[in-house]
Amino acid sequence: MLTRKRDLRTGRSVWQEKRAPSVPGWKLLADARADVVVIGAGISGAMVADALSEVGLDVLIVDRRGPVRGSTVASTALLQYEIDQPLTKLSRQIGEEAAIRAWRRSRLALDGLYARIRALSLAPMRRRDSLYLAGDLLDAEALSHEGEARRRAGFETAFLGTTAVEERFGIAHRAALLGYDNVEVDPRALAAGFLRTAIGRGARLASPVEIVDIDARPRSVVLRTKASTHISCRHVVFCTGYEIPLGLEPKGHQAISTWAIATPAQPRRLWPERCFVWEASEPYLYLRTTPDGRVICGGEDEDFVDEEARDRLIAAKTKTLQRKLAGLFPELDIRADFAWAGTFGASATGLPTIGELPGLKNCWAVMGFGGNGITYSRIGAEIVRAGLTGKGDPDAELYAYRT
Ligand SMILES: Cc1cc2nc3c(=O)[nH]c(=O)nc-3n(C[C@H](O)[C@H](O)[C@H](O)COP(=O)(O)OP(=O)(O)OC[C@H]3O[C@@H](n4cnc5c(N)ncnc54)[C@H](O)[C@@H]3O)c2cc1C
Repeated sequence: MLTRKRDLRTGRSVWQEKRAPSVPGWKLLADARADVVVIGAGISGAMVADALSEVGLDVLIVDRRGPVRGSTVASTALLQYEIDQPLTKLSRQIGEEAAIRAWRRSRLALDGLYARIRALSLAPMRRRDSLYLAGDLLDAEALSHEGEARRRAGFETAFLGTTAVEERFGIAHRAALLGYDNVEVDPRALAAGFLRTAIGRGARLASPVEIVDIDARPRSVVLRTKASTHISCRHVVFCTGYEIPLGLEPKGHQAISTWAIATPAQPRRLWPERCFVWEASEPYLYLRTTPDGRVICGGEDEDFVDEEARDRLIAAKTKTLQRKLAGLFPELDIRADFAWAGTFGASATGLPTIGELPGLKNCWAVMGFGGNGITYSRIGAEIVRAGLTGKGDPDAELYAYRT
């Protein structure tokens, strides 16, 4: 076994209300060849396949479950440039210059992703501002310093005191930072859109195909599938989400559990501007809306990954999320039409791991951890494409694999 199989998610996520988007498949009946094999057909594999097929590489995507059946289905898909780790905190961890670079790269990646979704007409999306509420991680004073640090680094941000937050958004007793121009999407539709685009250029998607062994040679890689077929290629990209290649867990990585709910549609009761709302707290709470006016509310993360224990907690976590949601917006209908749980990956810095795997020549990985996983999938696609086309990426070192 090359990647440990996890029970990635339980319950029905709000995206599963719609029929699964169709993605043309291909049967792997015999040994095969490709320039690049992308392992994993979630949002990361989909973006990587899009980026590599665009530069003319022959791409084969494989997935043991099928297209878009992993964590991407559970994602609440607040696509943010504001990464989980506040700029002030990340500066203390990796130095100010690197922290600013990481924040700026996220801004660029999000804008690039937005433009690409538009250019390819991949999926409906909306720009949303984000309201970052003071909490036990950053109180109002620390939040104000965070705002100054972000402004110094070039990010347009407004610090709002408690009165301003209450007047504009109806949330009582909380100071906040307002950030601009994030993006909301349906992550399943988006991943399927990227996959269809890559397939339209000649990429192949084969599933269910499980890769169980890898033989990385100086000039090629041979993959063995569970059905004992072999795939030869020049490069492999692991886009296996929270099913990290065994023995290659990056330093500081931790798998945790998270929960989310979605309320009935209530477009008339929603808060002004329908901005993203999230808290500088641990555990944190975050909110967004869907185009038909449901509220998605998630968080309540716990530092364990025992899937049975995680699933037993769905009812209790639903109640906690409902209580906290009502605490912020008492007028909302907090009934949970959908409640789901998922495994989540966290890293010590909140940054992902992207790059060549140590000791495995020609093998790359995009491990987009944390609450910014989808922004990081985009950065992953950019870095892998630059690496495979020999151009290199100026920020590659920031995300490189660390043991
Ligand atoms: C509840 C929840 C909320 C989230 N909210 C947000 C958010 O608001 N914003 C945000 O940006 N991110 C969010 N994330 C994170 C984001 O969803 C993930 O980073 C992203 O979906 C990961 O996509 P992926 O393609 O890397 O992984 P996946 O979608 O899990 O795809 C990986 C695929 O690899 C396949 N695979 C694994 N091993 C093998 C093998 N050996 N052979 C063949 N196939 C294999 C699996 O079958 C799977 O389909 C959230 C995650 C969760 C769970």
